Amino acid sequence: MSNYVYMFTEGRADMRSLLGGKGANLAEMTNLGLPVPCGMTITTEACRDYYRVGGSFPDGLREEILEKLKLVESKSGKKLGDPGDPLLVSVRSGAVFSMPGMMDTILNLGLNETTVQSVAKNTNNLRFAYDSYRRFIQMFSDVVLEIPKHEFEYILSKEKETVGVVYDQELSAQSLRNVIDKYKELVENQTGRSFPEDPLDQLFMAVEAVFRSWNNQRAIIYRNLNKISHDLGTAVNVQSMVFGNMGNDSGTGVAFSRNPSTGENILYGEYLMNAQGEDVVAGIRTPQPIAQLQQDMPEIYGQFVNIVQTLENHYKNMQDIEFTIERGKLYMLQCRNGKRTAQAAVKVAHDMVQENLIGKTEALLMVEPEQLDQLLHRQIDSSAKLTVIAKGLPASPGAASGQVVFDADKAEKIAKLGINVLMVRMETTPDDIHGIIAAEGVLTSRGGMTSHAAVVARGMGKPCVCGCESIKIDYAKQEFTVGGLTIKAGDVISIDGATGRVISGQVPMKDPELSTEYTTLLGWADEVKKLSVRANADTPEDAAKARAFGATGIGLTRTEHMFMGADRLPFVQQMILAESLEERQDALSHLLPIQENDFYGILQAMEGLPVCIRLLDPPLHEFLPSLEELLVETTKLRTSGKNAQLLTEKDSLLRKIRQLHEFNPMLGHRGCRLGITFPEIYEMQIRAIFNAAARLTKEGYTVLPEVEIPLTIDKAELIFFNDRIKTIAQEVFAAYGTSFHYSCGTMIEIPRAALLADELAEVSEFFSFGTNDLTQTCMGFSRDDAEGKFLPYYLEQKILKENPFIALDRKGVGQLMKLAVEKGRQTRPDLITGICGEHGGEPSSIVFCHQLGLDFVSCSPYRVPIARLAAAQAAV
Ligand code: PEP
Ligand code: MG
Repeated sequence: MSNYVYMFTEGRADMRSLLGGKGANLAEMTNLGLPVPCGMTITTEACRDYYRVGGSFPDGLREEILEKLKLVESKSGKKLGDPGDPLLVSVRSGAVFSMPGMMDTILNLGLNETTVQSVAKNTNNLRFAYDSYRRFIQMFSDVVLEIPKHEFEYILSKEKETVGVVYDQELSAQSLRNVIDKYKELVENQTGRSFPEDPLDQLFMAVEAVFRSWNNQRAIIYRNLNKISHDLGTAVNVQSMVFGNMGNDSGTGVAFSRNPSTGENILYGEYLMNAQGEDVVAGIRTPQPIAQLQQDMPEIYGQFVNIVQTLENHYKNMQDIEFTIERGKLYMLQCRNGKRTAQAAVKVAHDMVQENLIGKTEALLMVEPEQLDQLLHRQIDSSAKLTVIAKGLPASPGAASGQVVFDADKAEKIAKLGINVLMVRMETTPDDIHGIIAAEGVLTSRGGMTSHAAVVARGMGKPCVCGCESIKIDYAKQEFTVGGLTIKAGDVISIDGATGRVISGQVPMKDPELSTEYTTLLGWADEVKKLSVRANADTPEDAAKARAFGATGIGLTRTEHMFMGADRLPFVQQMILAESLEERQDALSHLLPIQENDFYGILQAMEGLPVCIRLLDPPLHEFLPSLEELLVETTKLRTSGKNAQLLTEKDSLLRKIRQLHEFNPMLGHRGCRLGITFPEIYEMQIRAIFNAAARLTKEGYTVLPEVEIPLTIDKAELIFFNDRIKTIAQEVFAAYGTSFHYSCGTMIEIPRAALLADELAEVSEFFSFGTNDLTQTCMGFSRDDAEGKFLPYYLEQKILKENPFIALDRKGVGQLMKLAVEKGRQTRPDLITGICGEHGGEPSSIVFCHQLGLDFVSCSPYRVPIARLAAAQAAV
């Protein structure tokens, strides 16, 4: 068995990490007996070794390629470079994880001045031969010789202009010959060497270029975006060519076994007659819907439908398929699990269970938790009056509004300023990837549902309308026209990716409607998950939303967020600035009923479910005006000499703020340290919680309040508060003549608390890991400063693999959590444990929480469905 090169007949679908996705599936299709042109796959290992030895072919690779080439030649009955009947091949990249359009492809390799004539003779079609040759030179020069594409496009468009035609297909054989000669001249001028004539040289150069394309800029950006490792390398597939551009009984197309936008179970796709694959994907000509093939070539259509069914049944997943018809014969060029929108992912997973194709477990694993986010966001309000200016294809659902931008660099630049942009292009290419990332949505005037823009936008969950032919884009003038209307760069438009509408101006949005398939799938998730999913919510509205999204409790109510409201901030400030206990008590007496109502609303919205309310946490200066602002104000007052009374007040405020100033507020006077120094603040909050709970109990509601102490370091702190909590509870029970169950516990946010968890558990009924603070206190860097300043360097240098404020640092922070859970449970076996830092809504961190055996994760309301699915995936 060879090491670096496999024939398609030697591979299998499960050899993906070695053969790449494309190679593995070509092998699988070959072995299923489907019509796949023969070929070989050069492994990802060869690519990794290419880089390992410093960018050259590793020992033995060249020989193996030659050896396997002989087999391809004998199977196809043609020889590379043969002047009689030359073999032509495609050379394509094929990574382990699909990276559509990010790396390079070369078609028609093997053509030179001799073989092009043989192809002309054998096909009796000189035009076809020259067209193939000019395409080959163009692709090869771009990918291998790195001569900019537009130089070739320029020559081609000049020739069209000279002979007075609009489309490439209208160029005659003679024109194409002229183009070839000019292309060759260009290559010679740019490289100082003539275009390579020897097909073997072409082949080795192409393979090497595909290896190199693994590290091109757009591939790197794509991998960073999709968290794909940079070390995997790409495989290279060398396959004998079939031609979709051999006349009107030839064609090429792309299809999905189901609709990738909605998930509907109907064959979906498009094709172009007399064209090569790149024409469909590049979106240069707008193709025909696949259903039309039934009329054009009924037999081929029938055969194709059968193959699609075979593939879907075999892979038990929706397939994305590329095919070519050469002179009335069908060939399969690729199949893979199709990228789909969240809506489609949910529907396909659900429907396949109903069709008995897969089980519930497979269905749960088929949907990316993060993808669900797409379903939960706002859509265009259908009752709004809209000015629809055009209609294109509904390529990726969701609505987006933004300023029109015509190129990717600008899109990125403007978006960086915090302005929403919509990228408008005739079509997009992989070079536009950074613009698509930056934009809210994409609108193209050409290309179908499988064009680059559509595929990439769907993959990212961004709204996209494509093939909107009525808009006429003028890049030079930086505008597009539609009907009599002109839209300039910077004007705001909206798109609705679910219907294909293009709308002038900003549009009103409304909450989404969730499908029954979604509800069923998440119901299956709830059946299997072990973690319960709570939400972080500070208002009754957020609590109600979280409950509607399936939260079974509140894991964190940050009471300080309530302190910011305009109706209470003055009392909060009075409380902070008070010079005496009486003064502070007075402020607190105003705050008590306000807080009580806040808690009443939240407890009511979560009736019957636990609600964990954290007592005041942040440093007090966060509630006061900034020192800088105040300095400006007092200076102005002083120089104007007008309002002496106000100046005295402001001066005193200034003094107080200076007193409160801390060098390190995050490590300063915050959390339960505030409660220790000003117990009356915490007492007010505890009383507000219990009053609200008592009122609701009397009204017949079941309430389950949990009082949570933040930032503890020692059980003595908890004892200090527990005594007060107990006393206040008794007072409230007596005052209202009722009682309810409540519990007291703490957050674990400081390493010392984790280390002493056994002691803390003596007096704490629950632990909730505040992993935002625990990460910063464990790492010793501030979350507010790290991300903007040095963390990017840590990631770039691979000192840290991931941002620890996004994906939980299992190695360090995770170890503290593990220890705390173990120690806590030693003391108190029924200790409730959960997480309420941002990690509680991040799928990979949720898997870790499941492994630790936590009881709950808590996240923002919109992430609740994501967490439910991630928790289920962790459990199956
Ligand atoms: C935490 O530290 O993880 C936490 C939830 O608290 P906050 O983010 O409010 O500090
Ligand atoms: Mg915290």
